[in-house]
Amino acid sequence: MSSLFFQISGLFYTALIMFIYFGKKKLNTLENRIYIALVVDVMITLLVDMASVYVAIIDKGNFLVNPLCKLYLVMIVSWIMLFTYYVFLISSKRNEGHVTIQDDSNYHYFMKVFFIFLCCFMIATLIIWIVPLYVYSDGKLMYTYGPGATISYSVAGVCILFWIINVFMNYRRMGSKKYLPVFAFIVLATIAIIIQSTWPNILLVTSVSAFITCLTFFTIENPDIKMIEQLNLAKEQAEKANRAKTDFLSNMSHEIRTPLNAIVGFSQALMEEDIPAQSKEEVSDILMSSNNLLEIVNGILDISKIEANKLEIVNTEYDSYRLMKDIQSLINARIGDKPLELRTYIDSSMPPVLYGDYVRIKQIIINLLTNAVKYTQKGFIEFKVDTVIQGEICRLIISVEDTGIGIKQEDISKLFQKFERFELEKNITTEGTGLGLAITKSLVELMNGKIVVQSVYGKGSKFTVAIDQRIIPKTKEELEIAPEEEEDNFVAANSKVLIVDDNKINLKVASRLLKDYLVTIELASSGQECIDKILDGNHYDLILLDDMMPKMTGTQTLQHLKNIIGFQTPVIALTANAITGMKEKYIKDGFNDYLAKPIDRKDLHNILKKYLKESNEPKTPQEEPTSPTLTRDISYLKENGFDVDHGIELLNDLETYEMTLNDFLEESKTRIPKMEEYKSVGDMSNYAILAHAMKSDAKYLGLNSLAELSYQHEMAGKENRVEFVNDNYQQLIEELNQKLAIIKEYLKK
Ligand code: ADP
Repeated sequence: MSSLFFQISGLFYTALIMFIYFGKKKLNTLENRIYIALVVDVMITLLVDMASVYVAIIDKGNFLVNPLCKLYLVMIVSWIMLFTYYVFLISSKRNEGHVTIQDDSNYHYFMKVFFIFLCCFMIATLIIWIVPLYVYSDGKLMYTYGPGATISYSVAGVCILFWIINVFMNYRRMGSKKYLPVFAFIVLATIAIIIQSTWPNILLVTSVSAFITCLTFFTIENPDIKMIEQLNLAKEQAEKANRAKTDFLSNMSHEIRTPLNAIVGFSQALMEEDIPAQSKEEVSDILMSSNNLLEIVNGILDISKIEANKLEIVNTEYDSYRLMKDIQSLINARIGDKPLELRTYIDSSMPPVLYGDYVRIKQIIINLLTNAVKYTQKGFIEFKVDTVIQGEICRLIISVEDTGIGIKQEDISKLFQKFERFELEKNITTEGTGLGLAITKSLVELMNGKIVVQSVYGKGSKFTVAIDQRIIPKTKEELEIAPEEEEDNFVAANSKVLIVDDNKINLKVASRLLKDYLVTIELASSGQECIDKILDGNHYDLILLDDMMPKMTGTQTLQHLKNIIGFQTPVIALTANAITGMKEKYIKDGFNDYLAKPIDRKDLHNILKKYLKESNEPKTPQEEPTSPTLTRDISYLKENGFDVDHGIELLNDLETYEMTLNDFLEESKTRIPKMEEYKSVGDMSNYAILAHAMKSDAKYLGLNSLAELSYQHEMAGKENRVEFVNDNYQQLIEELNQKLAIIKEYLKK
């Protein structure tokens, strides 16, 4: 009976698998059907096997022994051929899923192949039945031998060969999940056939086929796994389609933005020309429509970035009151001549310097205020900023309340979903995409904040946002300027100072500031030029050396200078990287001192006093910062977000400020194409240098949002974040173009 041990245990676990398999919901695929046939086949084979062993050993000489043994061999051949067909099916089907019979475009082809297998099986059965088969039985052991057995083992051998060829030809398509078990079956079955044909008395084949059938259940055929795979596949496909849609939208938006910028630019230029009033009106309509379109495109880009988790929150230190002031003036311009009163309350305990994403906070508030303006015909809009301070965190509670059309209760739950717009009949003339609030909510959540809305239909709405920002213990002045010191009449008429900077505006500004000290000034626009001057034997009492220059940085230049024998001149690092720890870094690099850009007069004064010898000439009185009494009306600049007062503070007077505006305009003509080029070839380090230069210029001119954006690009360039640069480049250029148009208009006056 021991020879029946494998068969009985095989029967037991196959029955178990059968029980589980039939009890589960399955996909109706061809492989499933073949697998069912395999399980049933293996059960019958086991029963026949046991019956033949029983008859051969117990009832020796019974006339049923021979037919039972032949039936057993036929069953073995049927199993192995079915399994071969199964291997063929799973290796031929695409890797990406289980196609149901109804959806299987290759179904007829597979059925044809099945028919061929069936024919081969019939022929093999016929031959096994005709040729002689001998049964050995000694009362303990039994086995079959002779032509019938040889043919059965040969068919098994051919089938295994077929498996091997099939698996190797299709292994890429099968994927490792199917490939590995099938490969294991090949090895197992080959060993079993070799053992069985060499030692026919070890009855292994049936139990191995039962084992393989069960193993297949756990590795390939488990209906649960198949269902999960199918679900995952469907999910993956849906996500892929969604991604493709978002990518398409964002690519389109990118493509649209470039020509749109040209339209806006040319329309602005046309507006400045002397054209008939009628045409001017038309151009103004073009401008308005283009700007609306630009807003839509920007909205789509933002939402696609948010959906792709690509929107980055870029935190910097910012002047909180200036942010609120900027927003206020922008919204005033949007209100235009609508009979709306803008009431603003800013909590006076709001810390002056906060740390957060200035650009995105501005976007959130402007979105809410713009909606309030759009959906309110008369009455007031209240913009309120409250603060709750806890330790180093300041919670900004920003609310925007209006007396507009309000939102119905049932619409409130859909308010923050993209593309949702309400009251379309009432808002027929109001432009919008339904993206603003979806973007706003995502931005608030990206900053770990909260947004809530209260609204009474027909009366008005109130949106409240709470965002935490870190408090920077600095005053507004300290953000950019070092602490003040007493002024005196220090001059150094006998000293010679070399200023090295690749940025023309920086050179001009520094020269202008040094002029008051009566020093002799020389300029160099690169590290190499500076080295050449020293090698030519020029002597200076002080060198102001910009660090971030193309080709050779200030730090590299300094290393070269230090190698020149006899070089003793003090060198001051000039840099816009005004972050803590920078001074220590530059001093460690060998600089004598450090000056942050935009250069503050007081800092410069201290440096000059420390390194230059005082002379006795009387100091020419410093021109007081000029008040806006000149011909041009600087309120035009102020209305457009230029912090002129700050600019004049840095640049000494309005005249220098205006000169710098002009220089900035000129510089931009070459800077923009260069930035475009660096961006397109992915030269991020040079891109960062130009963004850095732009930041520095923008700071001098009081263009805070441009300086902020340029800084983000400079950092992205330095960190080689090509994707950020590509995604946000247009935004930067738009901001720049907008400012350039205002400067052009201003300088023309
Ligand atoms: P858009 O204003 O471009 O349509 P939003 O996402 O900003 O898109 O707003 C979605 C919708 O919510 C608007 O179409 C409008 O119907 C409603 N809504 C938003 N803000 C207000 C508001 N302050 N008053 C009344 N309705 C508003």
